[in-house]
Amino acid sequence: MKPTKCHIHDGLVQELSILNSKLNSLSPHWVRSEQAREEVQEQRETLQAELKEHRRKGHDGKRCPSFDPRVAVSG
Ligand SMILES: [Zn+2]
Repeated sequence: MKPTKCHIHDGLVQELSILNSKLNSLSPHWVRSEQAREEVQEQRETLQAELKEHRRKGHDGKRCPSFDPRVAVSG
């Protein structure tokens, strides 16, 4: 992951990728992991909303300079 102009944006993206790999590491065959999975998924949704908000107006109501809408299609 290459660093961008905004460390807040980078931090959020990094946290998201950590949560994603956490989700991937939880085995679907492991029943006890079901609740953990839900928790991580919730955290991820919160983070995604936060990131979206930051991209849109995280800089004094302006768009984050790290966010290039031509590149990022999801999120
Ligand atoms: Zn930013």
